[in-house]
Amino acid sequence: MSNETPDKGLTLKSILFNENGKFCLPCTLYKSFQYISGSTMDPSISSTPTRDDVIIKQSPALPSVPRSDLIPGSRTYVKEDPPDVNKLGSASWTFLHAMAAKYPEKPTPLQQEEMTDFLNIFSHVYPCFWCAKDFEKYITENAPKVKSQEELSTWMCQAHNKVNKKLGKAQFNCDFWKPRWKEGWDE
Ligand code: FAD
Repeated sequence: MSNETPDKGLTLKSILFNENGKFCLPCTLYKSFQYISGSTMDPSISSTPTRDDVIIKQSPALPSVPRSDLIPGSRTYVKEDPPDVNKLGSASWTFLHAMAAKYPEKPTPLQQEEMTDFLNIFSHVYPCFWCAKDFEKYITENAPKVKSQEELSTWMCQAHNKVNKKLGKAQFNCDFWKPRWKEGWDE
């Protein structure tokens, strides 16, 4: 197992570490985490029954989630693991495309400036550090197009396609950004 950081632009097929040598979950897949830790992320649970146990057993409206799968003290929240690179990516793209689809058709100069700033900052803070580096490079070489909703949504689609290409995935036809992210498919 190496402590070296990955080369820029590699796809995430292997175990990854942060610059400080610590394992980076948002940069890789759960199975890689499980491979190096030999565990799932669930901490051990107290076997003492609580009021929640009784309520869960008695309430047919609640899903039959075992007590040990809920966050201690909660009747609602399941112990979900932190996001890996795929979960983080899918959620982030959903946000980015939805944001672009709601962007004004005729944005003011201030709105254009704010969107440009946001995308630049996003590329600095995205939790998968090497995804962030590539996205930052993409933005430097392909400045965000922020003059209209159509422009921004198409730019976002092309940015996403760049990542799809890097990962060996199919290209999305950007003519369909609107039904996918704004209006739905009226079939
Ligand atoms: P996703 O690619 O997450 O797509 C979600 C949905 O968006 C798809 O189901 C489809 O309906 C739609 N869609 C797909 N392509 C487009 C498009 N071009 N335009 C509009 N809609 C589209 N992962 C890595 O392994 N390495 C990386 O370097 C990397 N860099 C990333 C950089 C950024 C900025 C982000 C947000 C994510 C990055 N990811 C990276 C994550 C990666 O892009 C995927 O999110 C992840 O692989 C999960 O893919 P998915 O199959 O769930 O679909």
